[in-house]
Amino acid sequence: MPMFEYICLECDNKFEELVMRSDTVVNCPLCKSADVKKMVSAFSSSSTSGGSNDSSSCGKSSFG
Ligand SMILES: [Zn+2]
Repeated sequence: MPMFEYICLECDNKFEELVMRSDTVVNCPLCKSADVKKMVSAFSSSSTSGGSNDSSSCGKSSFG
């Protein structure tokens, strides 16, 4: 499920929101503030089988 974790910058409330589109406006369920920040979810922190870097994506797009 496209669930994202957000934290409200107004009341520091952490909540999850189902976001289908990136342009979805997320409001804090407590203070109804739109001043929220999307948090990075820590999925699959460690793998069991071996430990090889699977990052084949070369060329980091530098912004600036
Ligand atoms: Zn809030």
